[in-house]
Amino acid sequence: MVITRFAPSPNGALHLGHAYAAVAAHDLARAAGGRFLLRIEDIDGTRSREDHARAILADLAWLGLAWDGPVVRQSTRLASYAAAADRLRGMGLLYPCRCTRAEVAAHSPGPGPDGPRYAGTCRGRAVDPDGAAWRLDMERALAMAGPLDWSDDLAGQQQARPEQFGDVVLVRRDAPASYHLAATLDDAADGVTLVTRGADLFMASHVHRLLQALLDLPVPRWHHHPLLVEAGGAKLAKRRGSPGLAERRLAGEDGLALANALRDRQLPAGLSLASGVGMPA
Ligand code: GLU
Repeated sequence: MVITRFAPSPNGALHLGHAYAAVAAHDLARAAGGRFLLRIEDIDGTRSREDHARAILADLAWLGLAWDGPVVRQSTRLASYAAAADRLRGMGLLYPCRCTRAEVAAHSPGPGPDGPRYAGTCRGRAVDPDGAAWRLDMERALAMAGPLDWSDDLAGQQQARPEQFGDVVLVRRDAPASYHLAATLDDAADGVTLVTRGADLFMASHVHRLLQALLDLPVPRWHHHPLLVEAGGAKLAKRRGSPGLAERRLAGEDGLALANALRDRQLPAGLSLASGVGMPA
């Protein structure tokens, strides 16, 4: 049984790139007679908004994409994130960190896929855990897990290289889990067998594979699809005013025709699909 999902964060209006991602995840499930799930990643209390969540449901219906089962809300699953963090703490793999973004950047040994890599400043230090972020001790985690493989339908067999991220944050100061922890746990809880998302998140899968090993979770396959980009290669961004789906829907455009155009890779002028974005060099 193939189970895919579309997992938007309701922190802005969906744009064409999201439509492409949703169509891809939907069609991969339908082609295999499988299930297509919808998960709203709404644990970022400062950025998530209910009106965006509502618009996402309407946008998908407008595109003709019906999901199976109830909509999953990450905000209802905080206990499972806390339990997983406790388990990793019990394994001696997490440590509290109070460094600010600026401090992380100032001491960083170099860039990582998510931004400046963390120098490990708080590792082994007595840090007040109250209100701190919790980071994964990457070296210990790798020693515990050993070598790991994962497989992407388009890019093929991969050896997990999460070390390039350094000690990633798994519990945020301002949210009960980081994207890495919440998405990995939810994909397992929802029985997702084919994690379908844009190639800009390709590198994140190295971290997710490691978390699956540490937490005894099933290992899915991945499908990182090419990303819709603007002329010059810039990612479409919610903030930069790329055409929003809700805007098109409310203007009376035909959503089914739009979804079919994306299937046929008929893209509006100025946009193209880039397969290289986010992929290993
Ligand atoms: N919530 C993430 C986003 O909107 C996507 C997560 C995923 O597909 O793994 O970018």
